[in-house]
Amino acid sequence: METRTIGSLTVSLVGVGCNNFGGRIDADATQAVVDAALDAGVTLFDTADIYGGTQSEVLLGQALGSRRDKAVIATKFGGPVAEGKGGAKPDYVKEACEASLRRLGTDRIDLYQIHFPDDSTPIEDTLAAMSALVDEGKVREIGCSNFDSSRLDAAAGAPASNTFRSVQNQLSLLDRRQEADTIAACERHGLGILPYFPLASGMLTGKYRRDAEPPAGTRLAGLPAERREKALSDRTFDTVEKLEAFATAHGHTLLELAMSWLAGLPQMASVIAGATRPDQVRDNAAAVGWRLTDDERAEIDALTRR
Ligand code: NAP
Repeated sequence: METRTIGSLTVSLVGVGCNNFGGRIDADATQAVVDAALDAGVTLFDTADIYGGTQSEVLLGQALGSRRDKAVIATKFGGPVAEGKGGAKPDYVKEACEASLRRLGTDRIDLYQIHFPDDSTPIEDTLAAMSALVDEGKVREIGCSNFDSSRLDAAAGAPASNTFRSVQNQLSLLDRRQEADTIAACERHGLGILPYFPLASGMLTGKYRRDAEPPAGTRLAGLPAERREKALSDRTFDTVEKLEAFATAHGHTLLELAMSWLAGLPQMASVIAGATRPDQVRDNAAAVGWRLTDDERAEIDALTRR
């Protein structure tokens, strides 16, 4: 497995997004996914305090068990965990970190990320609190999520002994809206990118087909009708089918195209694909080997332009 760096951290190019843990999948299924990930050379696990109603962190910590040192644990704070618990005020950052450490059953968080901007708290204050956690040894590196370039610029200019090393924003072949803005800011400030929804919740795996019911038990099958119809729209299938034909013509799968295209973007740190089953993790871990040429990338640009 190829590795990249986020500040002082070495992370696998394919990571596991853990938002299914404790929600759509239970402790046994989480264990199977984590075991398969470690076996495939995946080291980065991205979770958040709010995932699975706080159970994602618990199940991840349990599943890693004595192998904790083999893993790079990324988690997040700031989303609403309970009534009055959320945001990015300094006292809360400290409290949230302690709660995540407890749930994960570890003495340090490798990458601690602010989940969403909090406009009621100056970024300088949040950064100072996060930075103090690094100085105390509770956190190794800090990052942010859902930050656009103007917020990343503001954070980079704030005085703090430690600064953001990564940003986690939505990015996939089906959603390129933030691509240019995120990459440009990450190049300016030396940040790594963690793309979320990299497989567009499974749309970029080839398992959903136009005019067919979504397979039972899948994420999109479980969505409320309105959201499901939006995700499975004809317009989306127009793009998915073009991308799949392009991948097939080059001797690859749609999944390999989706993962390898992301892996080849500037500043990409790790493609944190979610998974509910061990075979998915194995397939994802093996899907970043296609080195796309500039010409191929230009063709893909044409296929995904809207
Ligand atoms: P995703 O990676 O785009 O899609 C994950 C889903 O795709 C899985 O649940 C699985 O669906 C399906 N899948 C994955 N690999 C597959 C394979 N090889 N074959 C067939 N199906 C496959 O979406 P995501 O998990 O929501 O996003 C990734 C991570 O980003 C999250 O886990 C989370 O850590 C992070 N995230 C962050 C934010 C943020 O605001 N920072 C927001 C969203 C997500 P089934 O469930 O149908 O099996």
